[in-house]
Amino acid sequence: MDNRELIHSLADEKKSVIADINRSVWGYAEYGYKEFKSAAKIMEVLASEGFQVEKNVAGIETAFIGVYGSGKPVIGILAEYDALPNLSQEAGVAERCPIEGKNYGHGCGHSALGAGAVGAAILTKEYLKKTGMQGTVKLFGCPAEETGFGKAFMAKEHCFDDLDMCFTWHPMEDNSCWPRSVAYYKVRFDFTGRTSHAGGAPELGRSALDACELMNVGVNYLREHVISSARIHYAYLDCGGDAPNIVQGHASLLYFVRAPHLTDCDEILGRIKKIAQGAALMTETEVDIRVLGGLSDYIPNPTACGLLSDAFIAQGGPDFGEEEFAIARKFLAAMPEETRRKVIAQGAKVNGISEEEFASRPLNTAIIPYSDKVREMLMTGSTDVGDVSYITPTAQYVVADMVPGTGAHTWQFAAQVGTSIGDKASQAIARAIAYACTMVYEKPELAEQAKKELLEETGGVYRSPIPDGVKPGEGM
Ligand SMILES: [Zn+2]
Repeated sequence: MDNRELIHSLADEKKSVIADINRSVWGYAEYGYKEFKSAAKIMEVLASEGFQVEKNVAGIETAFIGVYGSGKPVIGILAEYDALPNLSQEAGVAERCPIEGKNYGHGCGHSALGAGAVGAAILTKEYLKKTGMQGTVKLFGCPAEETGFGKAFMAKEHCFDDLDMCFTWHPMEDNSCWPRSVAYYKVRFDFTGRTSHAGGAPELGRSALDACELMNVGVNYLREHVISSARIHYAYLDCGGDAPNIVQGHASLLYFVRAPHLTDCDEILGRIKKIAQGAALMTETEVDIRVLGGLSDYIPNPTACGLLSDAFIAQGGPDFGEEEFAIARKFLAAMPEETRRKVIAQGAKVNGISEEEFASRPLNTAIIPYSDKVREMLMTGSTDVGDVSYITPTAQYVVADMVPGTGAHTWQFAAQVGTSIGDKASQAIARAIAYACTMVYEKPELAEQAKKELLEETGGVYRSPIPDGVKPGEGM
């Protein structure tokens, strides 16, 4: 039996272990840095599979590392397991149906992400054990991807420094390589003014709320004069109270600043700070500015991505069958007519089948191979995998876990990933990543080549986007 067959048959043996992680973590649906049950579940599985488990990594209660094997190459696999607020939803149900008493839901599919990553680590461990090959596999339990920059905090604590290569994945609507994605900062602006009776003595008041509004207006004018790939978002954290007849003595804003590199974010943030100070000057208020965290842009490593692509194609896409297609058809039917038509036309093209066929089997099973074009594409969303990709050659694939057109961060996605659709996608990527790992153990020079590429790209420089003194979970 060659390695391809070995990994494939091991994946069959371990499929219930992988599905059990997806379903358990999906059921716990815990928010970033509070993934206590999810982390405990995964650590328990790792320990029972013979991994050494290190807890409380980087001082974070829900971060951990499972290690198996010894010596080089050391390969990392990244797992996530945090959920999102307001997306609680019954599994497999194509109409809005929150689970009673539950707020959080896996609307970004991280339950499957965790299951697939842990599955990959287990299959890799089985391979190392059976073949006696030299090498180490490390499963990283990475909390709070959504808003907490878990991996950036772990990177700052040097968790990934000894890796020769790293693989991860993300549930999505097709099977393709994750392109470059942008860096970002999360910044809080707290304005302090002076309260007064808004009717009786308005001249004595200095409004912090006015300052926030003027700042937002100023940033609206700035938007025309930044690079087009930049994104600036804001939300009010504090409007100064609910009484219009009291001049607001305090008000706060939260900003996200996204751009292709951290240096671009620095430049734009510098200008936003000036606008905030200008707003404070205009209103005679004071502003306190605090960067609460951030993450780096993601670099797809050519060698690592090529390996994962080859391994995925050799192992095959998710083994979806009638059970999964029947669930998928319900979600397809619930889409607006125009979206449905587009989804079917596109799906037929991607999978090389007729529109009629795709309408009856509306999940992507075809795998789009990696090409260097991926490195020229830019996704304007972000991931904290970016910080890992600066430290070690990294590859990330996305795998179909939902009907195309569903969209991430939706209850519809939560509903689909909590079924056998999520289980089978996790199983497929587990065998792809594990098979890619076997290629690196058999040919360690691949890791050296990948590291050379990374060095050329970054000059060996990684700068943490997390300011000193900021703690994980601050401002969440
Ligand atoms: Zn996600």
